[in-house]
Amino acid sequence: MTTPTMTNEPWRWTIAETAEKLRAKEISAVELTQAHLDRIRAVDGAVHAFLRVTADEALAEAKAADERLARGQDLTPLTGIPLALKDVLVTEGITTTAGSRFLEHFVPPYSATVVKRLRAAGAISLGKLNMDEFAMGSSTENSAYGPTHNPWDLDRVPGGSSGGSAAAVAAGEAMGTLGSDTGGSIRQPAALTNTVGLKTTYGRVSRYGLIAFASSLDQIGPFTRTARDCALLLQHIAGYDPNDSTSADVSVPDYAAQLTGDIKGLKIGIPKEYFVEGTEPGVVKVVEEAIATLKTLGAEFIDISLPHTKYGLPAYYIIAPAEASANLARYDGVKYGLSLRAEAADLEDAYMRTRQAGFGPEVRRRIMLGTYALSSGYYDAYYKRAEQVRTLIRRDFDAAFAQCDVIISPTSPTVAFKLGARVDDPYAMYLSDLFTIPANLAGICGVSFQGGFSEGLPVGVQLLGKPFDEGTILRAADAFQRVTDYHTRWPNLAAAAKPKGATKAKKAGGKK
Ligand code: GLN
Repeated sequence: MTTPTMTNEPWRWTIAETAEKLRAKEISAVELTQAHLDRIRAVDGAVHAFLRVTADEALAEAKAADERLARGQDLTPLTGIPLALKDVLVTEGITTTAGSRFLEHFVPPYSATVVKRLRAAGAISLGKLNMDEFAMGSSTENSAYGPTHNPWDLDRVPGGSSGGSAAAVAAGEAMGTLGSDTGGSIRQPAALTNTVGLKTTYGRVSRYGLIAFASSLDQIGPFTRTARDCALLLQHIAGYDPNDSTSADVSVPDYAAQLTGDIKGLKIGIPKEYFVEGTEPGVVKVVEEAIATLKTLGAEFIDISLPHTKYGLPAYYIIAPAEASANLARYDGVKYGLSLRAEAADLEDAYMRTRQAGFGPEVRRRIMLGTYALSSGYYDAYYKRAEQVRTLIRRDFDAAFAQCDVIISPTSPTVAFKLGARVDDPYAMYLSDLFTIPANLAGICGVSFQGGFSEGLPVGVQLLGKPFDEGTILRAADAFQRVTDYHTRWPNLAAAAKPKGATKAKKAGGKK
């Protein structure tokens, strides 16, 4: 169905405007889904955001969505919208790898709660997205299936660990995606790819069916191109789930209704510890300009201090690996995925062979770190101390939020770095999450949105919010987007795109 208002590139539309076009029958869900499958075919050879494209299932879901739209009943803003999922979310009957060789052939018998909720809303899943193995990393280079490339510069990383989720939205391969954030894995890749990424409050979104990395830190959240779209996705994944004992029984507000465009009198804290040496001047400049813009909209700024910030990274790299070492103990060659039992001499040999063959180097490093930190004799010195530091960081935020409504900072100290630049230097890689980790330790929410560009590469601005106050940080990001156009800019993938009907993918590495 073609109307004069329909462009041939519906993948450029926002979810909010597409929902209206679907209702007005300007486009069908099948056409919309096909347009995204075509876009994936054209650019994903160069971007490699997807590990698996489930075209048949997507088109079947689109057909069902069209029937629902035709009936005009039970519609949500997500009915007929093509989305995609980080491969850390289990999907019934569809291989789910968490970016690991270990789970190369793992077909889950059930779907994550968030997957079920999106399906119930009528959303369509285009497939599963690339990620650092078990969500450990900041560049997606730790994926066992090869890295994802940043659509803004194919020689650079998209961030991580949800690099596939970020790149897919940035490249127009999906209208929105889900990722997970344990120490920054939604916000940092959002910043590096010019997308919006929301880390939800701990307990806001069910983790049932999220393959665990560090259970006290992991949260699921959306990637989109606008704050409004982010609110629409959040609306459908948020809320209590009896299957997740850490899910919070806190009512879910109408997020879209909170996007009033009005931030007059909103008190925004500027933490001096987040404006430190080492952050690229181009990044600082963008954040300062964003502050100026928010000021013109009536926001009020105050200087605040989060004195324990510098202990966030070290505490995280005790707590996260400790929890990971426990969570990953289940991958023993008996219960899940890969098994080299048949070749082993005895049980211990079976564990050793399977885990050595199944896990990549970063995952092994974390298991070693975590097991060491939890071992008797060291437990008090490392794990217990890190948990005490965590409490201090939480109190920093409590004190700050007594003075202000939200906190502003850069999301990442740098723009997207070159592929390979940090793979041999884990510490440099870990520093990517300096500004994102404290929010996970404290359990609060945070969003990264498009603040501008530095040397042609996207810069993200982070807003941290009080627990369960996603509405306020989204309201501020939305107000910013109403007066700026950074979020409407697209990477130029024309050189990398495969011409229609071509059989071979062009080599990645094409420049803008
Ligand atoms: N980059 C951090 C890490 O490697 C955070 C990862 C995440 O949030 N999943 O642990």
